[in-house]
Amino acid sequence: MQAPSVVSAKDLCLTYQTNDGPVHALSDVTLDICKGEFVSFIGPSGCGKTTFLRVIADLERTTSGDIAINGMSPEEARKARAFGYVFQAPALYPWRTIEKNIALPLEIMGYSRPDQKKRIADALDLVELSGFNKKFPWQLSGGMQQRASIARALAFDADLLLMDEPFGALDEIVRDHLNAALLKLWARTNKTICFVTHSIPEAVYLSTKIVVMSPRPGRVTDVIDSTLPNERPLDIRETPEFLEIAHRVREGLRAGHSYEQ
Ligand code: ADP
Ligand code: MG
Repeated sequence: MQAPSVVSAKDLCLTYQTNDGPVHALSDVTLDICKGEFVSFIGPSGCGKTTFLRVIADLERTTSGDIAINGMSPEEARKARAFGYVFQAPALYPWRTIEKNIALPLEIMGYSRPDQKKRIADALDLVELSGFNKKFPWQLSGGMQQRASIARALAFDADLLLMDEPFGALDEIVRDHLNAALLKLWARTNKTICFVTHSIPEAVYLSTKIVVMSPRPGRVTDVIDSTLPNERPLDIRETPEFLEIAHRVREGLRAGHSYEQ
């Protein structure tokens, strides 16, 4: 049986009007993301990755085409708290403790105190930060801060997680660790994840589906369904199967650029 569709985009176009003329950030994007998939978006800067996540999150209006989130419009999905959003920088308030940072959206949404407490504890447990509730962001490493901001996005238990280059600013060793932790979290929660990255190994290691994009206009040049098993130790990155998928991603990125050469 096919898993239900979480994100369904058809012929999506988004053009920003700027002082220098129109910028075609997304052009004819057609894509289906099913429940439980881990989908990475990869492509050079400016190919519309962030724009696509922002369309899903109802932060940007499309120019034409259709998009549905769990069968709803982005606005309805936002009101139904259908997704959590993780930004590139941790964006934690320095004057709030970790638990108070995670509590903020819950407070705004009007969750009761006991409910907030339970959700914070569960979310911190998922990112392996239990016991750090009372710390301030500056008392944590960069990787831990990013985990805390993932916990904040997890706390209202949305089925869909939107992650925009969450590990982009971290060194490779920390990133490896967080990639493995994120896969574990995904397996435990069965969430659907849309993940933006610049890194080919990161995209291949994490994803069940890789969406390769190219700029000017932003469009999808390849969609690769991963043949890797869901259980992935870090050293899977040295297997021929992994390298083959990485090769196809690289080819897709190159094809997207050929008109510039
Ligand atoms: P990516 O995340 O892949 O780097 P973006 O989605 O941020 O790409 O941007 C896609 C294109 O749209 C880029 O050319 C960018 O300069 C342009 N763009 C993004 N946001 C805006 C905006 N608010 N106004 C005008 N142009 C924008
Ligand atoms: Mg971006």
